[in-house]
Amino acid sequence: MQPFSLVIHGGAGTILKEDMTPDLEIAYLSALEDALKAGYAVLEQEGSANKAVKAAIVVLEDNLLFNAGRGSVFTKKGVQEMDAAIMDGRTLDAGAVAGVRNVRNPIELAEEVMLNSNHVFLSGKGANDFAIKQGIKLEPDEYFFSQFRYDQWKVLRDSENYSLDHTHQGLEELMKDKKFGTVGAVACDAFGNIAAATSTGGMTNKKYGRIGDSPLIGAGTYANNNTCAISCTGHGELFIRAVAAYDVSCLMEYRGLSLQEAMNEVVNVKLVKIQGEGGMIGVDAKGNAAMMFNSEGMYRGMKNSAGEHFVRIYKD
Ligand code: ASP
Repeated sequence: MQPFSLVIHGGAGTILKEDMTPDLEIAYLSALEDALKAGYAVLEQEGSANKAVKAAIVVLEDNLLFNAGRGSVFTKKGVQEMDAAIMDGRTLDAGAVAGVRNVRNPIELAEEVMLNSNHVFLSGKGANDFAIKQGIKLEPDEYFFSQFRYDQWKVLRDSENYSLDHTHQGLEELMKDKKFGTVGAVACDAFGNIAAATSTGGMTNKKYGRIGDSPLIGAGTYANNNTCAISCTGHGELFIRAVAAYDVSCLMEYRGLSLQEAMNEVVNVKLVKIQGEGGMIGVDAKGNAAMMFNSEGMYRGMKNSAGEHFVRIYKD
């Protein structure tokens, strides 16, 4: 048995205290607590890091507040297309899906791809066919609907703009009630194995089958027991170009940086240089944890066997 830890995020971006109502703040913090509780229970019972990150993500996907699973943002065509990925740092096994519809928990489908498909990354209709074949739970469109996301999309749908669901651009009148956030989890279990998972609806008004960084192994999600497990959130196009998650791993492997140092280099230097707004969470195989963002805020939380336990939203 060794120290174990779980870190989660619910999206980063322009999250300001003055835009938040007290009720909404409480709702976010308790949703993060629920996810930590579910994931940490797995680690406490000596479950694997893989199982812990999945358990935490399922709770966040089921919550309408976050842009993943239920409550995902709308595409240009007015539908919800979701992306997710999971990676096992012990074996380097990975599974990912992009552009899936009506899948209740895209992270479950990503795990199914990892375990039972002989492939790593499935997209669109093929991924949906695989979900049906494997008996993954589906839901009708209404299940995923959120009035807030719909209103957010209505502001953008006649334009060529797409929006990170965390930014003010074109959405000022909606900010009082803004609800957003790709979700992610990373864990180190009691056996020193680590895993990462990310799930998202992507960006409001995305089109042409746009895929962000979240399901791309190495960009938004990566795990390797020798270095780190990382889950990102932010403007996906820039995180893809920075190969952000894998770059943290490379800085640790090839330059000998610590988890904290490597994440700082990627989030606060490399991504800032290309205006890549967002953040990431990480753990290493010793159970060290870090969370970093270059935006105004990031919904986040952590709990570890050393007794550290918190959920936060803003910079502090
Ligand atoms: N990174 C996600 C994407 O670009 C968005 C987010 O983090 O909210 O699809």
